[in-house]
Amino acid sequence: MTALVVDAVHKSYGAEQVLAGVDLTVHPGSFTAVLGPSGCGKTTLLRLVAGFDHPDQGTVTLGGRQVAGPHRLVPARRRGIGYVAQEGALFPHLDVTANIAFGLPRRDRRGGSRISALLELVGLDHTLAHRLPHELSGGQQQRVALARALAPRPALILLDEPFSALDAGLRAETRTAVAAACAAAGTTTVLVTHDQDEALSLADTLAVLHRGAVAQVGQPHELYHRPVDAFTATFLGDAVLLPGTAHVDTVSTELGELPLAQARSATGPVLVVLRPEQLMMTRDGQGLPARVDHIDFYGHDAVVHLTLLTTGTRLRSRTPSPPTCTTVNVNVQGPVHCVDSSPPT
Ligand code: ADP
Ligand code: MG
Repeated sequence: MTALVVDAVHKSYGAEQVLAGVDLTVHPGSFTAVLGPSGCGKTTLLRLVAGFDHPDQGTVTLGGRQVAGPHRLVPARRRGIGYVAQEGALFPHLDVTANIAFGLPRRDRRGGSRISALLELVGLDHTLAHRLPHELSGGQQQRVALARALAPRPALILLDEPFSALDAGLRAETRTAVAAACAAAGTTTVLVTHDQDEALSLADTLAVLHRGAVAQVGQPHELYHRPVDAFTATFLGDAVLLPGTAHVDTVSTELGELPLAQARSATGPVLVVLRPEQLMMTRDGQGLPARVDHIDFYGHDAVVHLTLLTTGTRLRSRTPSPPTCTTVNVNVQGPVHCVDSSPPT
C-alpha cells in the first residue's frame, strides 16, 4: 500500500492558479523531498495534505483511505499527520517537556518516559527538558517541534522548510539529526524545500514542482544526471546548457562530438546539460583552448569560469585544484545528457 497519493490536485487563490494538477505517490517509510522555487506552491500542497485547506479538484489518499476529494473531507485532526512548520511553531510560554507533551494523547502526558524517548530520538540532551523556547537555539527549537510532531506516532510527517531559518552550520547538523529521527521513528516523511542541496542529500525520492505540477520524480541521482527539461537541469544544480545536434547516440557541439548517456530516437537540436564537474581542464594540449576568467574558491573545491578561445562561449569547471595559469585546454569527461532545446522558463 502507498502512504500518500496526491492525484490531479488543483488549487487557486482568487485568479491565481497555484497547483494545476499535482500527482505524487509516496511509499511507506520513504523520505520524499518536494523541491521548488519560493512561491511555487509547496506550503499550499502540504496544507492540502494535512487538511488545513481543501483542494478545488483532485484527491488526497492516506494509507488507502481518501481524505480529500469531491465528496469527502476528513478534518486535519483525524488524518494522523504530523506537521512541522518553517519556524515559530512552539508555544513560547511552555517549556520543552510541555511543548512535546502537547503532542501526546492526554493519558500519556504524565510520566516522563515517552518524553525522554522523544528527546533522545531527536538528539536533544535531557538537561534541556525544562527550558523555554527562547532559551534554545533555532536548531534545538526545530528538534523540539519535530519531537512534538512525532509524539503521537503519526504515519506521515510533513516538514515545511524546517531548516531555512537556521544558519549554515546549524542547518547541516539539524538536517542530519531530523533525518535520523524520522528514520528511527519509522515514519514516512515528506519535506518541502527550495534548497537543492538539502533535497538532494536528504531524500530518497525527489519531486520537482514547477508551474503548478510535478515536473519530474525519482531518485536524487537520476534527477541530477538525467533531468527531463532545462528548468529541472538548472534548478537541481549548476549547469551550462550547450546547444548541439543529436544524432541517435552522439551529439555534435562546439566542444566536439560527444557520446550521449542515453540514445535519442530523433535527430535534431538539443541542449547538452554540462555540469561543471564534467568539464576537465588540462595543460597537455588535448582539447579546446580556453581563457581562465576568474575562480570562485570554496575551500573543498573551486569553480573556474572560462571562455572558449574558439567561439567565445562561457563555461564552468569544478575542480579541487584550480589552475594557476591563464589559459587551459578543456575536455568533457564521459557521456553527456541532453534535453529538448526549449530554454528554461
Ligand atoms: P511556497 O511554499 O512554495 O513558497 P506557497 O504555497 O506559500 O508557496 O504560495 C504559493 C502562491 O500562493 C503564492 O503566490 C502565494 O502568494 C499564494 N498563496 C498562498 N496562500 C495563500 C492564501 N491563503 N491566499 C492567497 N494567496 C495565497
Ligand atoms: Mg512555503
